[in-house]
Amino acid sequence: MGLLGGGVLAAWQSRLHQDLSHETLWLATDRSLHVLFAGAMMGLLSSVGTLLLFSAARREQPGSTRVISLVAGGLSLVLAVPFFQILRADILALLPWTSGKLAMAALTVMLLGTAILILFRALDGKAAGRRDPVTLVPRVMAVGGLTLLFITGAGWAGLAPLNAARAGGRPSVILISIDTLRADRVGFMGYPRATTPRLDEMAAQGMVFENAISPAPWTLPAHVSLLTSQLPNEHRVRRVESRVRPDLLMLSECFRDAGYRTGAFTGGGYVSSDYGYKQGFQIYQDHNEGAEGGPGGIAQAALEWVRKVGGQPFFLFVHTYEPHGPYLKRDFVQSADRGRLTDEMIAGTVKSVPDPSAGERRYISDLYDGDIANTDRAMGGLLMTLRDEGVLAHAIVVVTSDHGEDVWDHDAVDVPRHGHTLYEEIVHVPLLMRAPGLLPAGTRVKTPISLIDLAPTLLGLAGLPPRRSMRGQNMAGALRAGQEPEVRPILSEAVRYGPPRFAWRRDGLKVILTPDPAPIDKNSSVIPDRLEIFDLIEDPLEQNILTAEPPAGSKSAISTLQGRAGLEQDNPTEADDHEQSRELKRQLRSLGYVD
Ligand SMILES: [Zn+2]
Repeated sequence: MGLLGGGVLAAWQSRLHQDLSHETLWLATDRSLHVLFAGAMMGLLSSVGTLLLFSAARREQPGSTRVISLVAGGLSLVLAVPFFQILRADILALLPWTSGKLAMAALTVMLLGTAILILFRALDGKAAGRRDPVTLVPRVMAVGGLTLLFITGAGWAGLAPLNAARAGGRPSVILISIDTLRADRVGFMGYPRATTPRLDEMAAQGMVFENAISPAPWTLPAHVSLLTSQLPNEHRVRRVESRVRPDLLMLSECFRDAGYRTGAFTGGGYVSSDYGYKQGFQIYQDHNEGAEGGPGGIAQAALEWVRKVGGQPFFLFVHTYEPHGPYLKRDFVQSADRGRLTDEMIAGTVKSVPDPSAGERRYISDLYDGDIANTDRAMGGLLMTLRDEGVLAHAIVVVTSDHGEDVWDHDAVDVPRHGHTLYEEIVHVPLLMRAPGLLPAGTRVKTPISLIDLAPTLLGLAGLPPRRSMRGQNMAGALRAGQEPEVRPILSEAVRYGPPRFAWRRDGLKVILTPDPAPIDKNSSVIPDRLEIFDLIEDPLEQNILTAEPPAGSKSAISTLQGRAGLEQDNPTEADDHEQSRELKRQLRSLGYVD
């Protein structure tokens, strides 16, 4: 009965994750053995426990036997609890994504099975001692059940070494996302101030992408794009109420399917497991950097996990909210600039001064640089330690950001902020890739590329097959040869923190379409034109709109963007709303998200 319950759960999981169409059969086996074994153990222990308890309830047994039966029966039931918890957690994760009928059918089968099991055990317990001859059918069932339990147990235990052997020889992959890090504040992107000395050293030993573009201007959709290689309008996790659906194939699932160990250590919030990012990860740890005093705890936890994994290939995803606001580190500030800024304003608990002076703006901007230096100490420091311990000799390292920040570039109200525009200060992110022996060191890639290109490229560099659901470009071949990747239009999309916006970029030409600029975000001074065309070579700060004399290539860009906007209108709402936990709400508020 336990096996049946586990089997129902395994089938249910595979259906929701669409393992067949994603061809992630190893991953499905991994998940199935997990619930089959848990189901079988729970069935066995609760069956034995019930049998013993009922047989102890019989009067004619001698006292000592009754005590032993009672204790052993109680113990068996207690031992069944952790296995029940495993099943419960998996069932709860599936419920929001399942139609009511299917969920009811699956739960009914499991509950009915459990009820029948308890009933039979109770009858057995009552009948025990009458020494009826045991018939063939229960014997066969018992032997069969125990054999299946042994097989699932052995399979479950044997899968880990088998996975290690399958992944053996492949490079490990370390993907670090530094939240809200705009490209032009980073040393390896040409910033004159020493904000990122450690990351600069890593970049010098690898490749720098001078034009990496985020597909979305804020944390949730950008990270889902990064990990699924789909644009926001495709994965549709673009609102605060959305969540990653189980049928979306994530990079973590691809690596897990290939036998990698997988771990994530994040700053929580819009990258927390509450949002469904956990799929494919064996460990997913959310940290609260506000409470922990910075990103050091995340780096330390990631380091300890890598050490525990040993020499086995792994996929490690690390995320930190440093330098996301509020900015706190004073490495670069001049106290004369501080003006009217109080500690409360700097900590973000009180709204900043209205109409800040040039000095006050400089002070805030310098605090941002201080936070970047702090993230370099933590994340750059993590990479230095891993390099010193020899881990990076056979690893692909990627460091990037989900989006940048408007520090009075286009907006004048309620800044610094992000999410509300698709201008360069927000979509242009730093990107470095380092993989000794795989990627030539000291290369600078100039072709604009998207963060959605990373997932297929990382699979390609690890020698793993491409995945149909991934929309990005696999750049592995070009990068290994030290060549520029194929030139493709780069798209970014946003539906929140302002009206729906769609951006298109190719070489130096950039087009932004805002089909319906009203209603305008009341917290922003940016009033976008319906159509904005920029020449980024001549006008990198996007100040001169060229709509009156559109450059060559604008026309096809506009029709592409109109197509994207049409997709939006076809599916205006997200059905996958979910309740945020109180803890998550508190953390999002501390990061300045008022929703
Ligand atoms: Zn972010």
